[in-house]
Amino acid sequence: MTTAYKITEHKYDMIVVGAGGAGLRATFGLAAKGLQTACLTKVFPTRSHTVAAQGGISAALGNMGEDDWRYHFFDTVKGSDWLGDQDAIEYMCREAIPAIIELEHQGVPFSRTEEGKIYQRPFGGMTTKYGEGPPAQRTCAAADRTGHAILHTLYQQSLKHDAKFFIEYFALDLIMDDEGACRGVLALDMSDGSLHLFRAQGVVLATGGYGRAYFSATSAHTCTGDGGGMALRAGLPLQDMEFVQFHPTGIYGAGCLITEGVRGEGGILRNSAGERFMERYAPSVKDLAPRDMVSRSMTIEIREGRGVGPKKDHIHLDLTHLDPAVIHEKLPGISETAKIFAGVDVTKQPIPVLPTVHYNMGGLQTNYHGEVVTLKDGNPNHVVPGLYSIGEAACVSVHGANRLGSNSLLDLVVFGRAVANRCAETIKPGQSHKSLPASACDKSLANLDKLRFAKGGTPTAEIRDNMQRIMQNDAAVFRTGETLQQGVTKIRQAYDSFADVRVSDTSLVWNSDLIETLELQNLLGQAVATMVSAENRKESRGAHAREDFSKRDDAEWMKHTLCWVDEQGKTTIDYRPVHLNVLSSDVSVIPPKERKY
Ligand SMILES: Cc1cc2nc3c(=O)[nH]c(=O)nc-3n(C[C@H](O)[C@H](O)[C@H](O)COP(=O)(O)OP(=O)(O)OC[C@H]3O[C@@H](n4cnc5c(N)ncnc54)[C@H](O)[C@@H]3O)c2cc1C
Repeated sequence: MTTAYKITEHKYDMIVVGAGGAGLRATFGLAAKGLQTACLTKVFPTRSHTVAAQGGISAALGNMGEDDWRYHFFDTVKGSDWLGDQDAIEYMCREAIPAIIELEHQGVPFSRTEEGKIYQRPFGGMTTKYGEGPPAQRTCAAADRTGHAILHTLYQQSLKHDAKFFIEYFALDLIMDDEGACRGVLALDMSDGSLHLFRAQGVVLATGGYGRAYFSATSAHTCTGDGGGMALRAGLPLQDMEFVQFHPTGIYGAGCLITEGVRGEGGILRNSAGERFMERYAPSVKDLAPRDMVSRSMTIEIREGRGVGPKKDHIHLDLTHLDPAVIHEKLPGISETAKIFAGVDVTKQPIPVLPTVHYNMGGLQTNYHGEVVTLKDGNPNHVVPGLYSIGEAACVSVHGANRLGSNSLLDLVVFGRAVANRCAETIKPGQSHKSLPASACDKSLANLDKLRFAKGGTPTAEIRDNMQRIMQNDAAVFRTGETLQQGVTKIRQAYDSFADVRVSDTSLVWNSDLIETLELQNLLGQAVATMVSAENRKESRGAHAREDFSKRDDAEWMKHTLCWVDEQGKTTIDYRPVHLNVLSSDVSVIPPKERKY
């Protein structure tokens, strides 16, 4: 029997779940439009994973050489391996320029050029003249602590606009009505275990990625994809979950990120012979090829016996030829990280690196207004009333099969702003709230209660470790039909093993055992969706590289995967067409061609 829980009710116009870059941009945008807005976050806002972003945020400002947002549009479509929706990409790349100026005016302390303009560095896959010109200097940076600078500024703006924060509140579930509309969210105050129902005209999920489904990831331990878990439990599909980005340069062993900005500043990847091997794989852009390609090239070097170290199982990232003054000014953070986590002085020794899980291209399916859409009665663009999603939790899809570095921070601010503008058009401040049935929270409470008193035989950490290792081994940089089928069987077993979970602490005050179990539940659904979607997609595109289907197959597979996972772990797959249309006559649709650099 479910314990009786007392629930405190709150009413707002809008609720934002998540206080990373996406959530904060939406929060103050909504508040600035006069909508009563509350933001819930499980960690203190400025501790969200966005704070760890290093390299920068893209926008074709052209401060340090010729650039044009249409080149950015082309690069992003090509980077996505033609899985990105071209209308959304056009929107993002055009809006990038005012979005950065806005951030500058709000107080982000960008690094500067001699003339005082925002400093911009080259990043992977960012070129000029529709791929024909030299690499673009497009990534705006605040040294190698860009996310830190942006997140603090956005939090200050949110406070300035009097948004209400509920900090260290853990969102449990979306409250959906019979018509499929989202009417609020149920959350747990982690400090005292009290329950809170936040009712609103709309809920924005900005809960970040689910990198922690993997064993080795650059993302924070809090990146457990809670928004995706809530969406699956609400019967919504997740899109393109097979596309998981491996960043080429995670520190060997520790997994901490060394930004692509290092290669942007001239860093070079070398194998055991000291060879700059990227010259063979991407002759024109070399070390600045997109991440999926660099990660694959590194993996091939290691497999063919040219890895470094006693086990020949990693690669060197060499900065020793760079001027120490440049390293000190532009890359202070990674110098410190390399010292602490790899014990190297980057001015004298190379950094040992290995491709490490970094970003989830998949997530909640949305349109470029940030509205969650789903497939309903044959309509792939059915808007789910009252539900929005932005940032890494969402799949707009601007990154398609492979995200270009520095396009994520951009996606946060552009779509955070877009969702605020959309809600300002469609929601009137102070509208009355439709009544909710008394049973609205029952399902979520029953789940909470079941997990709180779960007396199975397997501790949360054991199931999580098992899941992470399965994902790491069987949904890796290279995939084959055999490993994926094996992965599907194993990840389903891991999912089923959750029925035997044991939670040892039944209290409600700072119960990290319970919170980690709720997070694991969210991760497991997404791990299953990732593996099943990957097994299903019989081609190679972007980050999804199959050795048994090594070519991209546009005739059959230029479509988005939708994957539902029900409570028993049963999956259903369907598809949605890629948007091959643009919004204005300033750009034309980029027809698919082979992706070479
Ligand atoms: C180390 C690192 C470096 C990176 N560098 C760059 C870069 O230089 N350029 C770039 O473009 N991209 C970079 N990225 C990617 C980019 O930083 C992320 O994709 C982006 O910051 C995600 O932002 P977000 O707002 O979607 O989520 P996050 O910043 O992850 O925030 C998620 C928020 O949701 C809240 N939340 C989650 N679950 C719940 C719940 N159940 N209840 C309540 N609150 C919840 C959390 O408290 C948090 O506030 C980097 C990523 C990493 C990991």
